[in-house]
Amino acid sequence: MTSDRSADLVILGARIATMDPARSWASALAVRDGRIVAVGADSAIRPMTSPGTRVIQGRGRTVVPGFGDAHVHPVHAGQDQLRCDLHTTRSLPAYLEVIAAYAASHPDETWIRGGGWSMDDFVGGVPSRVDLDRVVPDRPALLSSRDGHTAWVNSRALELAGVTSRTPDPEDGRIDRDHAGEPVGGLQEGAIDLVERHMPATTRDELVEALRLGQAELHSLGITNWQDAIVEPHREEVSYVELAGRGELTARVVGALWWERSRGAEQIEELVERRSRTTSDRYRATSVKIMQDGVIENFTAGVLEPYLDRDGRPTDNRGLSQVDPEALKGYVTTLDSLGFQPHFHALAERAVREALDAVEAARRANGLSDTRPHIAHIQVIHPDDIPRFRELNVVANAQPLWAIQEGQMENLTIPFLGPERTTWQYPFRSLLKAGATLAMGSDWSVSTANPLLEMEVAVNRTTNAYGGNYPVFLPEQRIDLMDAIAGFTAGTAWVNHLEHELGSIEVGKTGDFTVIDRDLFDRGAGQIHDAKVVGTFIDGRPVYEDPALDA
Ligand SMILES: [Zn+2]
Repeated sequence: MTSDRSADLVILGARIATMDPARSWASALAVRDGRIVAVGADSAIRPMTSPGTRVIQGRGRTVVPGFGDAHVHPVHAGQDQLRCDLHTTRSLPAYLEVIAAYAASHPDETWIRGGGWSMDDFVGGVPSRVDLDRVVPDRPALLSSRDGHTAWVNSRALELAGVTSRTPDPEDGRIDRDHAGEPVGGLQEGAIDLVERHMPATTRDELVEALRLGQAELHSLGITNWQDAIVEPHREEVSYVELAGRGELTARVVGALWWERSRGAEQIEELVERRSRTTSDRYRATSVKIMQDGVIENFTAGVLEPYLDRDGRPTDNRGLSQVDPEALKGYVTTLDSLGFQPHFHALAERAVREALDAVEAARRANGLSDTRPHIAHIQVIHPDDIPRFRELNVVANAQPLWAIQEGQMENLTIPFLGPERTTWQYPFRSLLKAGATLAMGSDWSVSTANPLLEMEVAVNRTTNAYGGNYPVFLPEQRIDLMDAIAGFTAGTAWVNHLEHELGSIEVGKTGDFTVIDRDLFDRGAGQIHDAKVVGTFIDGRPVYEDPALDA
């Protein structure tokens, strides 16, 4: 064996789910110069080791291609970690305790900023400024909800922003009010900006540090590549350009440039300019994020038939179309013709249909391009629209963790959708059966970024990871573990146009793979979310290692 044939890194004795088109298995792999040079049986790979080769004993543990996340906000998540972080807290008294402690330990912060609270910890999903005033009376405070669609503000913040009973609701949002019309402390969607625009700008150092933290967390969960679902010029773009410039961006990232819905086609020229100016080896700004509706829990998601009220009677509210559906067709057609990938946010069935209609218009005008449009969240899909994902070549970008029947689903969703629409939620199996490509993601920091927990819900439609014992939610929509892994590997690689580089463990691809602490397919090994990532490799180099990897 000549030394130039020897590998830099070898794994032996593993259960490697290669996720190649045949979904074949192997026990060993070898990496040289950052690329996979062999995949197969131990006997074939062992001769490729030399004294300089790192050898990892698989010991029957599962190895998968490095996970991808098709919709994630790592800069935002990292920033929440740097500020008042409520993501791991539940209940109002607990939130107030964390906020009070943060305020006390940050006397020099002129604003108390942070987020991560959950709507179902508040009556009717609406937080109160009076509660917040008790712990932050002196300074303005703004804390975003876990899903980012609502802000909880105190009286000082409302005062500073001049928001009173006389302030009209903006077109794309709502100020929560009491019977007298006084703001109560919740700001929905576009109304958040009324206060947010008065906050001090985030510094460059904070933005870089936030991405560093976000990247480290994602690597520790086995994630090697992702699509950042909102890239704004003075925020995420700064983080990516800066970190890539310093050679510290280890992940491969596609940025989805934020579509400003208060503007029209005139912004496209800027998007083209930003794409060419910021794209590097690790970061490509090739996607455009269009937020078409809001969320169901505050009745801003776009529905075909009106939401019901608490007593099950129809209201006159059909939610929002953030972008006029006819204008959307034009924008998407132009973006597609310029090689941009449309990345839609669409929660409810009317918004999903508007996004599909826009892609259909683009297909008619431009033919079948390779831009791979995708629709994220897809909570409610009208059954008639399910085949259109395959017909129009639109990727279904799913956040499987949300398909559980917990408090938010039970109290803030099902009663207002009604029984029929309730069964149209998160139809992952139906989409797969209809031939759609599923790409999965977390929407972190809205939810945990742990793909193993997300897969558990995709497979079981329930989890006891949060202590609760939820009923299995729409069991007919459960999918196989192999399909769930594909959603986080081959599916995410496809949606990020990275399928020639990663997404499967095959000769010639980059050495991106993730080692899990057990055999995921062994039913005796516990629940999927009990499993942990012990090693994450990019280009054959570790970006995360647990001591258990070599133990
Ligand atoms: Zn998102």
